Amino acid sequence: MKAARLHAPRDVRIEEVPTPKPGPGEVLVRVRAVSICPSDWRLYEDGHASGVVPDHPMIQGHEFSGDVAALGEGMSGPPVGTPVAVEPSWPCGECDVCRAGLTNLCRHIVFPSFPQRDGALAEYIACPAHAVYPLPPGTSYTVGALIEPLGVAIHAVRLAALSPDTRIVVLGAGAIGMCVVMVARARGLRQMAVVEPLAGRREWPARLGCTPVAASHEELMATGLEGEVVFECSGESAAVEQAMQVTRPAGKVVVVGIPHPDRVTFDSTIPRRKELTVIFSRRSRNTLEEAIALLAWGQVDLTALPTREYSLEQAQEALEATAARPGDMLRAIVRP
Ligand SMILES: [Zn+2]
Ligand SMILES: [Zn+2]
Repeated sequence: MKAARLHAPRDVRIEEVPTPKPGPGEVLVRVRAVSICPSDWRLYEDGHASGVVPDHPMIQGHEFSGDVAALGEGMSGPPVGTPVAVEPSWPCGECDVCRAGLTNLCRHIVFPSFPQRDGALAEYIACPAHAVYPLPPGTSYTVGALIEPLGVAIHAVRLAALSPDTRIVVLGAGAIGMCVVMVARARGLRQMAVVEPLAGRREWPARLGCTPVAASHEELMATGLEGEVVFECSGESAAVEQAMQVTRPAGKVVVVGIPHPDRVTFDSTIPRRKELTVIFSRRSRNTLEEAIALLAWGQVDLTALPTREYSLEQAQEALEATAARPGDMLRAIVRP
């Protein structure tokens, strides 16, 4: 099969590699769409994922959809040809953390595209059957690939324990920030403010009823508005302190973005004087079913997120476009 492999920082090559064979309890997926996550771009640019260096030319990509191509031993479905979304967090199911139900925090978690497990920027990928869900009829492969970021947002919203009258602030109107807004809206929230420095990205939250949509946290603070819950979705290390600044006393900060660089510093006076609760959210936990239900019932419309399509041969271009963060594109979609 053809695969896009990362040989060194900013060096992606399209190569012929062996097609994976589905093992017992696995499903082989013919990949149809891969959404490029900013975390893919970081490995692409930095050559490591939070310090973990690939030991072989890595196939990237973990937000993906496709069709069932073959079933491993002991599998009776889903039928070959079924369009599916895939949850890319693969827990062991046996460690103490998994037994406590916290499968996204598994001590032996496998995550395709995180070194050393190859991801989905290829024609095929073998996935554990429990991670594979049929797409609702009529769902595009692009939307199927965006179900993963939607799951990340659902998990963050669950951790925040929102009620319909909670006032929230979202820092960063990228795909994750927009998914948080959409999930919160589906739960009946109406008081939502957004901070997004890129002018082109401020239009989308405004359309979803967010107000104000400020260009900076200072601009938001000047309005006097504070969030009871603030979601940090920009992935900028400096934004963690900014999130604390725009949170009301006794409020919560949920850090959803992966801070870049990894080390975060903040003035402890801010969360201490306000007795803030700071929650770090990791990926998603059993969110696929809810994500698919939100789509099937039309409560979340992922087609509203602006995307651009690339072929597998253009995988490097898609990664570069993700780095450039154009205002009119929230996710680059590669169609192998
Ligand atoms: Zn991602
Ligand atoms: Zn485990």
